[in-house]
Amino acid sequence: MRIPFIAGNWKMNTAVAEAIDLVKAMRKQLDKVSNVEKVVCPPFVSLAPVKELLKKSSIKLGAQNLYFAEKGAYTGEISPLMLADLCEFVILGHSERRQYFNETGEIINKKVAATLKAGLKPILCIGERLEENEAGKTEEVVAEQLKLALTGITAPDGLVIAYEPVWAIGTGKAATGEQANKTIAFIRQNIAKSYGDKIAQEIRILYGGSVTATNAAEFMQQPDIDGALVGGASLKATEFLSIVTQTAVIKHKK
Ligand code: PEP
Repeated sequence: MRIPFIAGNWKMNTAVAEAIDLVKAMRKQLDKVSNVEKVVCPPFVSLAPVKELLKKSSIKLGAQNLYFAEKGAYTGEISPLMLADLCEFVILGHSERRQYFNETGEIINKKVAATLKAGLKPILCIGERLEENEAGKTEEVVAEQLKLALTGITAPDGLVIAYEPVWAIGTGKAATGEQANKTIAFIRQNIAKSYGDKIAQEIRILYGGSVTATNAAEFMQQPDIDGALVGGASLKATEFLSIVTQTAVIKHKK
């Protein structure tokens, strides 16, 4: 059985003191929930202090981005080697990075390769835009994004995929559980074609896009959805905790 996975993407929110307060507000309760992999992804500046707070905790840490070079004259960038000591996961290919920072499939592929090389685990985001969805191109788009991101990757160890339809991110208009499950099952088939059935059955594929405590159960009841990448709702300790708790109950009932 795949261990369910819930990650909070804090995006560009929380100053260091706020990040510390947020972790303190959820740490104790989250630690009581077992059998769900719980990950928080604060901004870079808070990774070290949050790591310190999570020393004895089951909550894991992720970054929201990295640059693919190991070191050098790349002012303002953060390398995989710098993150390797700090966290376990890195969100890559988020639609906000694709949209506002012009990240192409080729760049994301280099980042995936560099992340794996450093022993970090990518949370690779893929998903179609509204007009692509309306044109019936969802599967075509996610298949292409997946292919580009994983070109040349022979062993995707620890890879987690997040299916995040762009039209659902931060809009309050989540996909339905059924819609998301259908696309996620399709993504799993694509992984099977590239890496075989064993890896496809092991890999965690999440849904992301306006997940809240109110709609989380709808997604977690779906067989191919292994968890969620949560943006806005991960900034509220009680919401995030509720999503994690519901996931544990639903996934372990089956
Ligand atoms: C995200 O940032 O990955 C996300 C899914 O955001 P939200 O939950 O706010 O839609």
